[in-house]
Amino acid sequence: MEVCLKVGDLRDFVEEVTQKYWDYLSIGTIANGAKIKFERVPVSAICHSCENIFYFEWHAKDKLCCPLCGNSDTELYTGTELEVKEISIS
Ligand SMILES: [Zn+2]
Repeated sequence: MEVCLKVGDLRDFVEEVTQKYWDYLSIGTIANGAKIKFERVPVSAICHSCENIFYFEWHAKDKLCCPLCGNSDTELYTGTELEVKEISIS
């Protein structure tokens, strides 16, 4: 069994630690021994002026401007995801 998690880069998920917790918590369940696969989602923002979606480094969030039009009216678009994308049973 494999569980694919979609995890935004703003989530504090350490992959090795998450797998260790999973291994412990799944003992005695049908998910025992399942591997967790991580699909990381980079941090991006959307511009409210031209609707451009662009990636950026989180530490630069206070000076964020759209690279296309220069507008600073932007909003976080991706990076906080935390969801089960897929469960594969073999
Ligand atoms: Zn823009």
